Amino acid sequence: MNLPNLDEARNRTNKIVLEKINNYDFDNKFQGEKYFLRTYGCQMNMHDSEEIRAYLEMLGFSETNTLEESDIVVLNTCAIRENAHDKVFGYLGRCKHLKREKPDLMIAIGGCMSQEENVVSEIKNKHPYVDIVFGTHNINELPHLIIKHQEKCQDIEVYSIEGDVYEGIKYSRDSKITAWVNIMYGCDKFCTYCIVPYTRGKQRSRKIESIVEEVIELKNKGYKEVTLLGQNVNAYGKDLELGYDFKDLLIKVAETKIDRIRFVTSHPWDFTDEMIDTIAKYDNIMPYIHLPLQSGSDRILKLMGRRYTKQEYLELFNKIKSKIKNVSITTDIIVGFPNETESDFLETLDVVNNCKFDSAFTFIYSPREGTPASKIKDNITLEEKEARLQRLNDLVNKYSKENNEKLNGSIVKVLVIDKNIKNKTQVYGYTDTMKLINITGGDDLIGKIVPVKILDAKSFSLDGELVKDGVCS
Ligand code: SF4
Repeated sequence: MNLPNLDEARNRTNKIVLEKINNYDFDNKFQGEKYFLRTYGCQMNMHDSEEIRAYLEMLGFSETNTLEESDIVVLNTCAIRENAHDKVFGYLGRCKHLKREKPDLMIAIGGCMSQEENVVSEIKNKHPYVDIVFGTHNINELPHLIIKHQEKCQDIEVYSIEGDVYEGIKYSRDSKITAWVNIMYGCDKFCTYCIVPYTRGKQRSRKIESIVEEVIELKNKGYKEVTLLGQNVNAYGKDLELGYDFKDLLIKVAETKIDRIRFVTSHPWDFTDEMIDTIAKYDNIMPYIHLPLQSGSDRILKLMGRRYTKQEYLELFNKIKSKIKNVSITTDIIVGFPNETESDFLETLDVVNNCKFDSAFTFIYSPREGTPASKIKDNITLEEKEARLQRLNDLVNKYSKENNEKLNGSIVKVLVIDKNIKNKTQVYGYTDTMKLINITGGDDLIGKIVPVKILDAKSFSLDGELVKDGVCS
């Protein structure tokens, strides 16, 4: 495989993406054929799937939610935990079975797993029925690979180095109300347990003008909310050395006057006071921050390569709480990092008791081959880790419920997203603080930001009633 060097690749990115797309003869090539797209993992993957979907639709495929109906299956994979691997290979079994009945079925695998060498060799050696393998750096190659595939041999096109910054990508978005906007690719933090810098490469920020242009275009199409997306959004711009950072981007995006702006994910190490002040200043930047903690133990944080201490995390947390009115803060916590002691774990519980997070994603540590942490010999049993996870979840859920209960009786603004599929008389939406809320009401509310009175608070959601002219409906 002939790869461009990094500078060369960055300089010609626009051309790489757009020229290739323009050169394809998309006309009715796969008209009448169906695609089945399955996405694993984080928001970044879901957003990549919106790009994949756009390419498939340009080729003439239409979407089906039934695997058996499909002519092409695309699995957009995640590598963050071992069970994500198992799930994908388990699902491939179903696809293999289907291919026996439908020999012309095309099977494509993309996403983070495809960037792992051991996975690619496993696919080569054990899963020859997989037709196409593409990576996170060359999603734009997918149409080309599908057209080329008529040659019927297994095609593996995964770039092993990063470098491209894509602009002008077309997306077939999941929603007409909220949209993800990629602001950067990859990550430079190299936390010792994390596979992302290996599967998505070093940090590459998009140009501020292109991001703002995309937001304006979305606003003009009627979108109400954008979520600025990156592995570490607070480090946005650092790689460009153009003198602007995430705070500058937030200001520019806020000035577009789009109704709601969110961003994910933040890294405490790169979170500056100016960023906090900017979030506090603009009404259309939502008072919601996802601030991963991972551990409360300084010893474990050091082993994880997180670059902050428990004290520094707490100081940042308190600063955010004091400066941003009504802010809600959620977090990620890993339990059972190799050799985590009971006293390390108690430090984590201590931070949870101090911060009383609005909610938390909690995980048992999962070693990822190739990362430094996977080489540490672990002496903690799975039973112990599971017991700690349970204790942590009990505490996290208690605070989630308490925080939600504080909202009882208050009136909040809610962006209504869709019908509640379990209860047809209700719709659901999100408060500015990212709390899920169910409201009695019809389709006419979808896409609107409406005042809602909170009637009932549970651990994971709220129930509310629409307020019309200051009166509940
Ligand atoms: S900040 Fe750390 S955990 Fe997050 S993507 Fe980067 S390396 Fe992974």
